[in-house]
Amino acid sequence: PRGLYIVATPIGNLGDITLRAVDILRRCDAVACEDTRVAGKLLKHLDISKPLIRHDDHASEKACDALVERMHNEAVALVSDAGTPLISDPGYRLVRAAREAGVAVTTLPGPCAAIAGLTLAGLPTDRFLFAGFLPVKDKARGEALQALAGIDATLVFYESGPRLVKSLEAIADMWPAREVAVARELTKLYEECRTGSAAGLAAHYSEHPPKGEIVLLVAPPGAEEAPEIDADAMLREALASLKPS
Ligand code: SAM
Repeated sequence: PRGLYIVATPIGNLGDITLRAVDILRRCDAVACEDTRVAGKLLKHLDISKPLIRHDDHASEKACDALVERMHNEAVALVSDAGTPLISDPGYRLVRAAREAGVAVTTLPGPCAAIAGLTLAGLPTDRFLFAGFLPVKDKARGEALQALAGIDATLVFYESGPRLVKSLEAIADMWPAREVAVARELTKLYEECRTGSAAGLAAHYSEHPPKGEIVLLVAPPGAEEAPEIDADAMLREALASLKPS
């Protein structure tokens, strides 16, 4: 094989590695990764030994070009520490550079925490918006939520244990009536998914500080939050436009 292979890896349960991922990791010439220790561990578990190249979106243009150059003759697998590369993880610049250089780019889909969280939460999945991590600072977090207020879709965030309660409190202030889900430690031994109001979940997690990794989901605006529609005014307007001139 030659080119760039985007390889999703497990988000906690090593059994989730796909057959295709193992095959390409075995046959590639090098593995580009966020952290050589983390990737090394996965490869060791699979009994595979490959040259590891540290790479992220802050890599210099020169380093990026050098890696892309190799892909004309060799197969480079891109992995991140866990889950699907490019999803709140490095890789976007590398994929862009590879495509621009005419290198074949192939994706090997697999585990992704955002999607795993969506499948567990029991919230609408027909439309969702993945919004990555919320800003850490209160003001910026509030503004980020405000910017998402009108979106008619389930909102999906990545979150960390120490920040969860603050985020839930901010969501409770903004959208007290929306259902929220906290999906934690997905695919791991202590996998949990709790749903409720943001205020209720904030109270629960202040009592029981959450460990591990978290996907936070917020239901779309419900009827109680729909923008008020003045049906009479709309009808009057429609009738007026129908009048013969
Ligand atoms: N690219 C990865 C993916 O496809 O899932 C996500 C990388 S992002 C840097 C890491 C964040 O993903 C964590 O902070 C957490 O919010 C979420 N995450 C990763 N693994 C998880 C798991 N097993 N359970 C819940 N959330 C997880």
